[in-house]
Order: sequence, then C-alpha cells, then structure tokens
Amino acid sequence: MAGEPQADCLFCKIVAREVPATIVRETETTVAFRDINPQAPTHVLIIPKVHYQDAAALAAAEPQIVADILRESREVAAEEKVEDRGYRVVFNTGAGAGQTVFHAHLHVLGGRGLQWPPG
Ligand code: 5GP
Ligand code: ZN
Repeated sequence: MAGEPQADCLFCKIVAREVPATIVRETETTVAFRDINPQAPTHVLIIPKVHYQDAAALAAAEPQIVADILRESREVAAEEKVEDRGYRVVFNTGAGAGQTVFHAHLHVLGGRGLQWPPG
C-alpha cells in the first residue's frame, strides 16, 4: 500500500535503523542524514518516514509532509551554518533527472559555491 515500508527500499531501512546512517535530525514525519557520497561540504538528505517513490507521489498523497521536509531543510541549513553563503535544495524526480533511490528525498547542499544550471 502507498506509504507503507518497502522491504527492498534502502531509505525505509534507514528509517527503521536496519541500515546505519549519520542521522542529523529526526521529526515525527522525517529523517535527515548525511549523504554517503557528499557532493558539497554539507550534503544532507531529508526523507519522509513513509515510502513514496518520488517527490511527485509524496506531494500528491501527503502534501503536509512535503512542507515538513522543507521546514526541516531550513533547520539543517541553520545547524550546518550554510545559510549566509547560500545553499540548494533539490528533489531529483525520475531516473532521467538523476534519481537513483526511489524513496522521495530532498538534497540539501551547501558550504561551497554552487553553479546554476547544474547540468
Ligand atoms: P538521488 O540520485 O536518488 O537523487 O540521490 C540518492 C542519494 O543517496 C545519492 O546522493 C547517494 O550518494 C545517496 N546514497 C545512496 N546510498 C546511500 C546509503 O546507503 N547511505 C546514505 N547515507 N546515502 C546513500
Ligand atoms: Zn522507502
């Protein structure tokens, strides 16, 4: 069922503490942890605890949780002290946009200059 944990999903396993991760924040609806292959000095992923394959599916079913994730991105940026220099939040949505893990997640990138467009 939509939203239920998926046995073969890496990020559901991180939520369940079955796969280790460096968790930096947790709320009732979200978990934030460091990306294993950071692309910037700060690279944190914020995920819903419920399983949806991407941000579009999450937004359709649980828009309040999208708001929770964005609120958390502000907290992460403040804790990481990347607000002044600027930071980027990204939902890669679909394989063609670079999505490789099909449990919705927001990237929070900062701590270095970031080019736009990203390519
Ligand atoms: P995507 O390409 O789907 O937008 O982002 C997936 C992200 O998950 C990548 O940046 C990748 O480095 C990260 N990732 C993949 N496997 C793991 C893992 O086991 N632990 C953590 N912390 N991050 C992971
Ligand atoms: Zn999942």
